[in-house]
Amino acid sequence: MPYFPIFMNLDGRPVLVVGGGKVAARKVAALLKAGARVSLISAALGGELEARRAGGEIEWLGTDFFPERIEGFRLAFAATDDPALNRAVFEAGEAFNVPVNAVDDREHCHFISPAVVDRDPVQVAVSTGGASPLLARAIRGWIEALLPHGLGTVATAAARLRHRIGSRLSPDDRRRRWEFLFDRARIVRWSGEPVETIEAAMRRELRRVEGQQMCGKVYLVGAGPGRPDLLTLRAVEVLQQADLVLHDRLVPEEILDRARRDAERVDVGKRAGEHHGVQARIHALMVEAARAGKTVVRLKGGDAFIFGRGGEELQHLKAHGIDYEVVPGITAALGCAAYAGIPLTHRDHAQQVTLATGHLQGQAYGSDAGSFPDYSKMSCTGGAGHTLVIYMGVRQALRVRQKLLEQGRAASTPAALIIDGTLDRQRVLFGTISRLPAMARQVPDGAPGLFIIGEVAALGRELSWFGAAPILEAAA
Ligand code: SAH
Repeated sequence: MPYFPIFMNLDGRPVLVVGGGKVAARKVAALLKAGARVSLISAALGGELEARRAGGEIEWLGTDFFPERIEGFRLAFAATDDPALNRAVFEAGEAFNVPVNAVDDREHCHFISPAVVDRDPVQVAVSTGGASPLLARAIRGWIEALLPHGLGTVATAAARLRHRIGSRLSPDDRRRRWEFLFDRARIVRWSGEPVETIEAAMRRELRRVEGQQMCGKVYLVGAGPGRPDLLTLRAVEVLQQADLVLHDRLVPEEILDRARRDAERVDVGKRAGEHHGVQARIHALMVEAARAGKTVVRLKGGDAFIFGRGGEELQHLKAHGIDYEVVPGITAALGCAAYAGIPLTHRDHAQQVTLATGHLQGQAYGSDAGSFPDYSKMSCTGGAGHTLVIYMGVRQALRVRQKLLEQGRAASTPAALIIDGTLDRQRVLFGTISRLPAMARQVPDGAPGLFIIGEVAALGRELSWFGAAPILEAAA
């Protein structure tokens, strides 16, 4: 059962701490910071606690705990090194309806204390539901690294300014103005400045956009090859601001879950045999939503500018006067190469890389008509020293092999096929150009596969590090 998270106002409220050691001293310090009136029961007081008692910061209620003592307190902490005593405090809490936290004894806790990232007044609390306090601390470390140090001052400046973003605005307009102000790059720039400077800068920014209809914007975002942790920070940020997410079919659920909870999600992915009109529909949806003032995230697999039709979508937005930003993503070639242990360039083996499509321009998958990419124009037929990465090539493997051989590449040239690259179910097959069709037959229906062809492909056999063991296709 998950815990119910709250932040509690303890200002001026009585809190009991039982215990006088280091742990108790830590709790007392945090409680005093929150303005609590702290009373202490303990056989002995450590130096810090003794000083606080002498200075009148805390009240010492003597050495003995008995159940009635707990009555009237808002909260109590049992922080002694005597488990039986800690348990007695918990039981007293049960009897007198006072929530108790017994340190390091989850069984005897009405509430648990989270690991906290403190950027006063901003606080981030992390809990693993008691599963592992050390894991909670590790998570706190990650969040620490993510949040600018002056974030607290930015929050204070925002509090001062809040009334200016008046109630005459609709809730949606208000949200957009704050989102506009709370751009990460801007906050990082402000953090470290004094609160007055930040407040003045915020006023300036708001004045600049005052009276303007906050028009929507389209973020063309590369979602990377599929692993959620390969999203960029910027991608996560704009997903958090989205009103509408238009995503491709290949973008996994775990990535879509990073979007703002209220964001509407629309799968605009193309399926086989359903090409016509899909792109036009995407264009229309983007323009319509942006004109309605929405923040639109157009989310594509990999990078939007690598076989992603990102260019066409931007041209359409430009033609309609819609504001846009492009967020790069890790393209399949880079993601798959990394997770298959295949360096795309290598001082001894490859000085050039070509990203090519195996798909026929303008034709449905599987069709023979249409123009096939001429790999010789890509100067890859010289063989040595060139890595060729082929997207959308699985269903064209026969043609790809035929073309490469016609264009002079040796049948024994190493090749790799990465299926579901970077995902936990990733499979990697190693073979040669002559084995391309046999390798392609191993790709499950609907799974993406990427060919990497050239001397470097063989290096993956020794450098592979991720997921299931590679399948070593025998060279023909
Ligand atoms: N814009 C995308 C590519 C879209 S084309 C990018 O930058 O990655 C779709 C092709 O990309 C697929 O046919 C496959 O060849 C490749 N691809 C995308 N994700 C992949 C993955 N996780 N594993 C293997 N291939 C992938």
